[in-house]
Amino acid sequence: MQRITILGATGSIGQNTLAVVGLHPERYQVFALTAHSRLEELAKLCQQYQPCYAVIQHEQDISKLQALLGQSSTEILAGEQALAWVAAHEQCDTVMAAIVGAAGLLPTLAAVKAGKRVLLANKESLVMAGQVFMQAVIDHNATLLPIDSEHNAIFQCLPNNYQQGLSKVGVERILLTASGGPFREFSAEQLQKVTPEQACKHPNWVMGRKISVDSATLMNKGLEFIEACWLFDAKPSQVQVVIHPQSIIHSLVQYIDGSTLAQLGNPDMRTPIANALAYPERIQAGVSALDLCQHQLQFYPPDEQRFPCLGLARQAMQAGGTAPAILNAANEVAVAAFLNEELPFVAISQLIDTVLTQLPMSSAHNLDTILQADQQARALAQQKISLFSN
Ligand code: NDP
Ligand code: MG
Repeated sequence: MQRITILGATGSIGQNTLAVVGLHPERYQVFALTAHSRLEELAKLCQQYQPCYAVIQHEQDISKLQALLGQSSTEILAGEQALAWVAAHEQCDTVMAAIVGAAGLLPTLAAVKAGKRVLLANKESLVMAGQVFMQAVIDHNATLLPIDSEHNAIFQCLPNNYQQGLSKVGVERILLTASGGPFREFSAEQLQKVTPEQACKHPNWVMGRKISVDSATLMNKGLEFIEACWLFDAKPSQVQVVIHPQSIIHSLVQYIDGSTLAQLGNPDMRTPIANALAYPERIQAGVSALDLCQHQLQFYPPDEQRFPCLGLARQAMQAGGTAPAILNAANEVAVAAFLNEELPFVAISQLIDTVLTQLPMSSAHNLDTILQADQQARALAQQKISLFSN
């Protein structure tokens, strides 16, 4: 029996994880569920899955959640330290890291440092702190399994011994697929006028609002580019982004002998979640089999003129140090401002570019430096919003 903590249980990944877990009560038990402020959703999940602990953001909400839960054996905790505590608890074996944004870094790292089996959806933590994070995985003998559909696909296409080094196992290149998002065919002029509602309507996936906007700007692919470099110890030159609008091939690996291996499936996050939960076994995910005759697959290169975020992410990865943390923080501020209708869509990349240009980067060997860079980038981005606002 695996006991699971789900960080970000009320979100899109959290709920998909519970859907898979619920199919296999003989294998999985829910140890802790966490949320930020959606108390009613969390209460429902607690009633259904009876975790030992529920964690929320604010102390003052504990009594509200208690009232929603009524008679219950679930103990309620609050605050950042409680998130890290349930992630590192000795009675928990597996942690699904599915908080959105930089807020996921410390609890995810706590799980890594406790040597857990960590299922990583929160790509922002790797983007911010790749080197510190991957070193902690090694030092604490944690098991890191990718949930992002592309990275899970790459993981499935790599040989078991890929950690020896990609070139040693004959890998030439990783092909990271991208749907292109809802504005894939929009002209530069059309992009000027797009709204948060349009940006959050992804053609193939139903996701949280932040990652939906990231998909629309292609920053999601930029973050995934950085994520792939860290997860698979790939050089930036070994990762190539390919637009594939149907989201049926979730990514590919090319080998030096001319072979290209791909993982295919209907676009449904329950597949990578089930893969990582049960790895190296296979379990039912509740996802229907792919009917290839229903699909025509297309591929083409991304247009970095219309979608500059991808290039910004690549540059940040090449610059190294705190640059990816600065990129991530500026992006979080820009996306929140766009969702609040304070910043036009096309200004998201302009704001990030400004922050990356104006903030000096430094080496990122420790967490304090990274968190400081994150704070500085947020403050600068916030200060610059008015330059670009509607
Ligand atoms: P959602 O916005 O749907 O859910 C986010 C979760 O995090 C919620 O449970 C939310 O709680 C919680 N949360 C938000 N802010 C905080 C905070 N400051 N402190 C603690 N908890 C917080 O996001 P998604 O599920 O879409 O995405 C989660 C992560 O997974 C992201 O990093 C994303 O990039 C990644 N991912 C998502 C995919 C998808 O298909 N959705 C695919 C691949 C990766 P509350 O509900 O109370 O606000
Ligand atoms: Mg993805």
